[in-house]
Amino acid sequence: MRSLSEGIPNISVRLDRLNRLMYMMIEFQDHIPDALVEDFGHRSPIVSKFSDIAAVLDSIRYIKKNLKRWMEPDIRFAASPFNLFGAKAYVQYQPVGSVGVISPWNYPFNLTIGPLAAVLSAGNRAMIKPSELTPKSSNLMKRMISEYFEPEEIAVVLGDGSVGEEFSKLAFDHLFFTGSTAVAKKIMAAAATHLVPVTLELGGKSPVIVGCSADLKTVADRVWNGKLMNGGQTCIAPDYLFIPEAHLESWIEASTNSIASMFPLIFKNENYTSIINVNHFERLQKYLEDARRRGAQIIEFNPGREEELDRTYYKLMPSMIVDVTDDMLVMKEEIFGPIMPIKTYRKIDDAIQYINNRSKPLSLYYFGQDKTEETHVLENTISGGVSINDVIFHYVQDDLPFGGVGASGMGRYHGIEGFKTFSNPRAVYRQTPIDFILKIMRPPFGHLFKRVISSRIKF
Ligand code: NAD
Repeated sequence: MRSLSEGIPNISVRLDRLNRLMYMMIEFQDHIPDALVEDFGHRSPIVSKFSDIAAVLDSIRYIKKNLKRWMEPDIRFAASPFNLFGAKAYVQYQPVGSVGVISPWNYPFNLTIGPLAAVLSAGNRAMIKPSELTPKSSNLMKRMISEYFEPEEIAVVLGDGSVGEEFSKLAFDHLFFTGSTAVAKKIMAAAATHLVPVTLELGGKSPVIVGCSADLKTVADRVWNGKLMNGGQTCIAPDYLFIPEAHLESWIEASTNSIASMFPLIFKNENYTSIINVNHFERLQKYLEDARRRGAQIIEFNPGREEELDRTYYKLMPSMIVDVTDDMLVMKEEIFGPIMPIKTYRKIDDAIQYINNRSKPLSLYYFGQDKTEETHVLENTISGGVSINDVIFHYVQDDLPFGGVGASGMGRYHGIEGFKTFSNPRAVYRQTPIDFILKIMRPPFGHLFKRVISSRIKF
């Protein structure tokens, strides 16, 4: 690995690395969706191109456009009275050194190359450990990176959780993890051995609140588009939804129409993504069985009246669970699939209270035209991010920080926050060249220094 004695990478070195990352993604634009199809059984190729290539390229372009400005000394206020005599203060953003990146399977390229762009923009080297559940994608990533980067710049380590365990014990300068809350606890414990700072990008149950003033057709189109993208296997997918009690029937109708218009067929639809493997498929079916057994109403959306025999791979029909209760598995665990529990409310504060009684979510969604209600929701809830009148969109805003809070994560990336996460904000102070002002502060202390001190000990 390159040592600091070889110098801190200047802007040209960083831009060269970001350019190579871009060329790499563009060159492999057809291999990436193919690998994802193989890993998922079936994954919508156009969604793969959008989520795992175009969105990543957008982020890199944004970083490239702003990097020079981010790297400049960040001028701060030097304390008085020294500032009056020429003292200066600023922050110098330095690379932290080497960064470990552990990534999950649901958006393998987006969630590995995206963080990598931020790591490289801050002038660091990286070691990445992609997921074992998407072996074709992880192998492809290793090949792509070896063709475009020296191992000293980016090293790729392949393997399962046991490899991840060893990886997380390494003496990195920063460890960036995207995955489950359960594994994050192990990562943080392992990182503690060398006091490695961590960023944890986790999941959880992201709620939707639909206000009385929302247009249900618009809500259904936007919510179901977000929910069903990647078969529901998205960390910021809307997990469950609150609807005013009086609007439940209209909501069911709007959902039926919206899903049928986007996905007239499910099993035979090229743009409907399969569940990643049999374990996750069975986990989701268990949620449905458990909810049914406990008295919930399950509404399955099967617009093309496809038969069980038509099922391809582990595709699961979208469904909605009405009359959910908190003892149901589907309300206890992150769903990560095309199932939407619906809760009704009479007063918006009941929905807010329900959300606030649970772990702080990664994302929160509010739909409505009532600005007072919108402000009330924003001011009385906490989450990593929010989209208003849509879902997921805050993630693709390159100028907004992305991350969770509490059990949904810690730390941020995207945009300048990503650059700062992987930088050491070194505080630099340049002393005034005028010594008489400093001399006052040196022993033997005279009256003037005592007067200055006394004058400052006041409210
Ligand atoms: P996971 O936690 O099971 O695995 C993530 C990565 O950690 C994999 O590379 C895995 O090999 C590795 N790993 C497993 N055990 C490990 C250990 N003991 N030590 C070190 N590494 C280990 O998560 P997953 O199933 O791949 O992904 C799904 C989860 O990720 C969901 O909870 C989802 O919400 C979350 N997620 C979050 C975001 C986000 O940006 N916040 C994005 C996507 C997914």
